[in-house]
Amino acid sequence: MAAGQAGASAPPAGNRRTRESNLILLGTAGGPTPKRDRSAPASAIVVGHDIYVIDCGDGVARQMVLAGLDLKRIRDVFITHQHSDHNADYGNLLLLAWETGLNTPVNTYGPPPLAQMTELFLEMQAYDIHVREQDEGRPPLGKLFAPHEVTRAGPVMHDANIKVTAALVHHPLVEPAFAYRFDCPDRSIVFSGDTSPSENLIELARGADVLVHEVMDLELIGRALEFDPHARTLRRHLLDSHTPMSEVGRIATEAGVKTLVLNHFVPGIVPIPDKVWIDAVKPHFKGRLVVGHDLMVL
Ligand SMILES: [Zn+2]
Ligand SMILES: [Zn+2]
Repeated sequence: MAAGQAGASAPPAGNRRTRESNLILLGTAGGPTPKRDRSAPASAIVVGHDIYVIDCGDGVARQMVLAGLDLKRIRDVFITHQHSDHNADYGNLLLLAWETGLNTPVNTYGPPPLAQMTELFLEMQAYDIHVREQDEGRPPLGKLFAPHEVTRAGPVMHDANIKVTAALVHHPLVEPAFAYRFDCPDRSIVFSGDTSPSENLIELARGADVLVHEVMDLELIGRALEFDPHARTLRRHLLDSHTPMSEVGRIATEAGVKTLVLNHFVPGIVPIPDKVWIDAVKPHFKGRLVVGHDLMVL
């Protein structure tokens, strides 16, 4: 059960870790508009004390707190692509973690213009940062964060816990857009990012333990757009750049993954019962199928 549904007495998601590497879904909505039942795209992989954040949608810092994750333990941040549902709180996460007491270096990885975004964010918040450095004796924030722009497929980084590899995915007009594979000590976890059905993603996810894949319900989108003057353009964008639920199971089967986690649900205007997604995907995938929810630990 998602912690969000478990009531006030349930321990925070981050305290219910059971493995060497834990995957925590922080926000499972798709698209930039705030939703009632799902937070914006963000996930975390926790290995020991180290937290790796994947995408920084609106509210990521708050979702981490709800999950019981200590912002001071953030080690690296990865952005799949520069759409605002995935990066709106990139700067805020760094700032708020620092204000929580983070004082160890954080490397951030993502497509251009990540370096410029980091620089401009620090400039935008220069007043607050300066005051806190003087007033609270915090270490210089600008020196804590090192952005690394990812421009091509292949190895991204590795440390004692994880090895990260990127694949180019198809998400026009956003270029480059990446999927990331995390090889952890005990298993491998792949994030599709936002993409239409992608051969590169299937290659990247080959044999992985867990595939976290975006998904959309075209029929509901059609109904939602019935009276929208921009319906045709919007529908074309969605078809070109996202993956219908009828395709996701086949992709997971072709990649040979053990567990498929559905994520980045579109449309998100009304809650859609899990059964809708399961019924569409299950016939095409025989492994373990999980309908993702915010604060779920996997
Ligand atoms: Zn998105
Ligand atoms: Zn996107």
